[in-house]
Amino acid sequence: MSYASETRRRRTFAIISHPDAGKTTLTEKLLLFSGAIQIAGAVKGRKASRHATSDWMEIEKQRGISVASSVMQMSYRDHVINLLDTPGHKDFSEDTYRVLTAVDSALMVIDAANGVEAQTRRLIEVCRQRDTPIITFVNKMDREVRDPLDILDEVERELGMPCCPITWPVGQGKSFGGIINLRTQTMTVFTPGSDRGPKDFEVVPLAEADRLRKRFGQPFDDALESMELAVGASAAWNHEDFLAGKLTPVFFGSGVNNFGVMEVLDAVVDMSPPPGPRISTLLVNKQPVVKTVQPEDKGFAGVVFKVQANMDANHRDRIAFVRVASGRYQPGMKLKVQRTGKELRPTSVVTFMSQRREAVEEAYAGDIIGFTTHGGVQLGDTITDGANLQFTGLPFFAPELFMTVILKNPLRTKQLQQGLAQLGEEGAIQVFKPDVGGPMLLGAVGQLQFEVVQHRLRAEYDADVRLEGCQYTGARWITANSPAELRAFTDAYPMRLSHDAANALAFLCTSPYDVRLAQERFPEIQFHPLREHA
Ligand code: GDP
Repeated sequence: MSYASETRRRRTFAIISHPDAGKTTLTEKLLLFSGAIQIAGAVKGRKASRHATSDWMEIEKQRGISVASSVMQMSYRDHVINLLDTPGHKDFSEDTYRVLTAVDSALMVIDAANGVEAQTRRLIEVCRQRDTPIITFVNKMDREVRDPLDILDEVERELGMPCCPITWPVGQGKSFGGIINLRTQTMTVFTPGSDRGPKDFEVVPLAEADRLRKRFGQPFDDALESMELAVGASAAWNHEDFLAGKLTPVFFGSGVNNFGVMEVLDAVVDMSPPPGPRISTLLVNKQPVVKTVQPEDKGFAGVVFKVQANMDANHRDRIAFVRVASGRYQPGMKLKVQRTGKELRPTSVVTFMSQRREAVEEAYAGDIIGFTTHGGVQLGDTITDGANLQFTGLPFFAPELFMTVILKNPLRTKQLQQGLAQLGEEGAIQVFKPDVGGPMLLGAVGQLQFEVVQHRLRAEYDADVRLEGCQYTGARWITANSPAELRAFTDAYPMRLSHDAANALAFLCTSPYDVRLAQERFPEIQFHPLREHA
């Protein structure tokens, strides 16, 4: 097969939801129905990730779980489907943003009783910024839930885009009779239970309305009526609009009962886009030039969107998760990390087959592969088989929480430095080294990140630290148009400057006014709340 036909049959998507909406359950059923796993219950371990508390054991468990199952590959209907999980806890939202840069579409799971919840809202924002196409699955129809018209209304409002129902529920809770497929004009009859295969549900044509009415009573008529209203009020299906992130198809079902799941899996294949082009900068005569990388381009290129340390403290290796952007990966290839120009010599290269890791035989655009290394790879790094390019768009957000790191045993300074450098590279936390010296600063978006880092410094680097509050409440990355302008600025604020793990200059603030004042004083300096990997 050519590269183009290989990439065309790939689908890479993230599954997003508010905790408890049924993401884990749905993931498991998708794996089950694609044949990637044989028995239900295999994904159960991931549940613990929800209960992220300050308990150390939980943090450890959570890390283990996220390594094991944050990326899953399956094949279905001659397509290769890559499913990426997004961390459930809001304190790890930075990780989630980065995962969303690695996918071509998203599957949003909402609980039909609760509608669009807080955490889903944040994820939607990111998808919207990137115009990521979103498929909506309304879960738990077997419970007493909200009116489906209400739910559509809310999804439209929250997403800021029209909904297009593809299936429609008949009844709910105790009276849940099944779903009507608007396209095929058939009703799939609901039967509770979790051992049913996708083809085991009875399908009745809507043409046999009398029979259905007799069987399901009033809920059937109500469903026809509300379906008509919904179809009248919502957008007609338009594939282009969906691909442009301007319309979401909506499905109803019950994940735990295997119901309505097949429809979603088919939608991923039929509706979701294959890998698209990605923007990078290419160095030509040392000058960056924008280059669009096409998935079927011959040269191999990929971007590191996640770095995860080995769970086993005796091994200092890490897995760099790479989203392939173009070309083909094959074992034994010579690859280079573009930031350093150094050859990448992984100890292993793996793919993530549902619950297992396996050696990669080949990978194409859209696939996620994991390079196990002893360092030398950072979040945001571009890896190619030659071309001198760097992908853009992997975001780092200015932290809003800061702590000072105090080492309890000064003899462990080296270990502390090594630990902070590595954890900074992983993106577990942001590390700032004040230009004037003194203790290092940790910057986080969520409080739990501090606890994880403190714990890991002790467990993996034998560096016991105390974290103390400090006056900072924000940071801005600084750029200037000329060295002279930059010098004038750095001379004015020597006490406020620091460098982060990627050696980027940052201005530390103690209040929002700080930035405003500094900006007024130095209008030519740029203060960035977000840094993209250079
Ligand atoms: P996650 O936190 O989004 O991953 O949610 P889970 O998949 O762990 O599901 C949360 C709870 O909802 C679990 O107790 C599930 O068994 C339950 N659940 C998931 N899907 C359904 C469904 O369709 N109907 C009902 N009644 N419960 C469900």
